[in-house]
Amino acid sequence: MNEDTEVAGPTASESSSAESTKTGDLQLESGDDITIVQDDAPRQTAQNERSGQNEQAGQNEQTAQNQQSQRAPAVPQKARLNPAQQQVLDELGTTDRPSFRDDLRDHLRHELEESLVPIVAEVPDPPLFVSKRKLSMVHGCEARFLADEKSEFEWSIPIARGTVAHKAIEILVARRGNPTPLDLVDDAMSRLEFDERSISPFLQSLTEAERADLVGQVNDLVANFVESFPPLQRTWVPVAESRSRAEFCDDQLSMRGVVDLTLGRPRGNEAGRVLIDLKTGRPQRDHPHDLRFYALLETLKLGVPPRLLVNYYLDAGEPRSEAVTEDLLWSTAKRVVDGVAKLVELTVQNREPTKRASGGCRFCPLLNECAEGQAQLDPDRNEHLPVD
Ligand code: SF4
Repeated sequence: MNEDTEVAGPTASESSSAESTKTGDLQLESGDDITIVQDDAPRQTAQNERSGQNEQAGQNEQTAQNQQSQRAPAVPQKARLNPAQQQVLDELGTTDRPSFRDDLRDHLRHELEESLVPIVAEVPDPPLFVSKRKLSMVHGCEARFLADEKSEFEWSIPIARGTVAHKAIEILVARRGNPTPLDLVDDAMSRLEFDERSISPFLQSLTEAERADLVGQVNDLVANFVESFPPLQRTWVPVAESRSRAEFCDDQLSMRGVVDLTLGRPRGNEAGRVLIDLKTGRPQRDHPHDLRFYALLETLKLGVPPRLLVNYYLDAGEPRSEAVTEDLLWSTAKRVVDGVAKLVELTVQNREPTKRASGGCRFCPLLNECAEGQAQLDPDRNEHLPVD
C-alpha cells in the first residue's frame, strides 16, 4: 500500500446529527454504544415515509416517526453483528480516552534530536531513511538484515497477496455501495497491474492459472475482513493508508510510516484515534513494535498520541490491541534511537553483525550456510551440525 487514500469525513448532515455523532463515532466514552448504519436505512426510511402518507390521519404515532425520519433521514438502524464483529467493536470502541500533556511532542522531539545528532553525524551520505521494517529487521537478526539489504527483492504470490488484499480493503474504505469481496479484489488487481508500481510487471506476468490462484487467496482474506470486521461508518472517520513522517537533524534523518487503517480522531489533548495494521499470516513478536513506531510518528505529527493500537489478523479475524501510554512512547523513542545506532554501526562502520535465530530463518537468504538458522528450524538436525 504505497499511496495515500484519504477518505472523506462525515457529511454535513451526519456531523450535525447529534445522534449520529454520539452513536457512530469511535470517539466513545466508556459505556457508549456504537450503532451501525445499515446500507438500506435511507431506503427503509423512504418506504416508511410513503407508507405513512397512506395511513389514516389518526395514526399520530406513525406521523411522529415520519417527521423524525424527515429531520434525520439517516437515523441509524441497529445492525446485527456476528460475534466476531462484536468482539472487534467492543475492543475498539470501549477503552478510555486518555489526555496527554501539551508539551509531550516537544519533549519527545527534543530527546530524539539530542540522541540522534551524534549518530547521524557518522553517516557520509545522508539522508538516512528509517521505516518500521528497517527497525524490525535491525532489531532482529543483524546478519539477515545485511543480507536482505544486499539481495534484490523479488515478488511472489505469497508476498503479492498481502499487497493486493491491502489495496482491496483500501478501496472498500473509500467506495460507496456494497461491493462483494471479489469485486474489490478485481478492482485492486486492475489498479495495481497498471499503476507503475514495482508489483505491476509481476502481476502482468502471471499466467491465467497463477492469477486465479492469487485472486482466490486474496478473496479469502478480504471476505474474512468483511465478515469479521464491523461495517465501517463514515462517522468513524476511516482513513486508509494514512501517512506520517518526521524529519530530524536538519533533515538528515527521515522517519516514515503508513498505517493501513485509522479510525476516530482526537479531541484537543484527548486521544481518540485507533491505528490498525492489517496482517496476513501469524502474529509475530515484532508486530506490536511496528504500531508503536507509528504511534510515535503520529504523536510527533499531531501532538496528541493515538488511543489504541490494533494488529488485525485477517486469516484469523482476530484483533490484538494495546493502549497507548506516555511510557510506551518513551520506550519506543529509545528503541528507535537504538535501531538507528545499529543501522549506522552495521552499514557505515562495518561492525560484525550478530545472529538471532527465529522462525523468520526460513525466509533468510543465508539459511543454507547458517548453522544457527538450521538448528532453529530443525532441532533434531542440530546434533549433526559441526560445532565451532
Ligand atoms: S538463518 Fe536465521 S540466524 Fe542465520 S542469518 Fe538467517 S536469520 Fe540469522
